[in-house]
Amino acid sequence: MLGTFAVGKTSLVRRYVQGIFSDKYLTTMGAKVDKKIVDFEGKSINLMLWDLNGEDRFQGLSMNYVRGTAGYLLVIDSTRRSSFEAAHLLQQKVEQELGPLPFIVVFNKTDLKTPWENQDREIRQLEESGWTIMYTSAKTGTGVEEVFETLTQMIMNA
Ligand code: GDP
Ligand code: MG
Repeated sequence: MLGTFAVGKTSLVRRYVQGIFSDKYLTTMGAKVDKKIVDFEGKSINLMLWDLNGEDRFQGLSMNYVRGTAGYLLVIDSTRRSSFEAAHLLQQKVEQELGPLPFIVVFNKTDLKTPWENQDREIRQLEESGWTIMYTSAKTGTGVEEVFETLTQMIMNA
């Protein structure tokens, strides 16, 4: 799970693994690892989900957590353009360090329905550059299963 603070990384994992959502904001300390077993073409896949914190300091800090990852979700708060800019920097950093890996750009908090100006245009540009984009609400659960399933497929087919 990559993305700047408060975009919903922890909430997405909780929604996916435990099926719950909380409005309380708890800063994740260090890295938390969750596990979920998913089906892929009749096989059981052990998905290890690494939920990191300190993403703003990440540039110089948490690369050790990222090494060894098979793929990642680049999470954006769809109400906050600064989180979109942060995602670009994170993606560059990870690709520089690890080379190309499967990833999905996740626009979270879609239940709030307050996108920033020109978001549609910026999303189209991302799509044109070949990035996979999906939409979620950890609050309502919309799109959450699909995002993790799609990433699993991308990793397995990579
Ligand atoms: P993280 O710092 O990226 O792990 O973000 P959190 O998962 O801790 O979420 C930050 C805040 O945003 C919390 O108050 C969450 O309840 C809230 N939040 C997360 N996802 C959603 C969402 O899909 N919709 C809404 N409305 N709030 C969300
Ligand atoms: Mg967190």
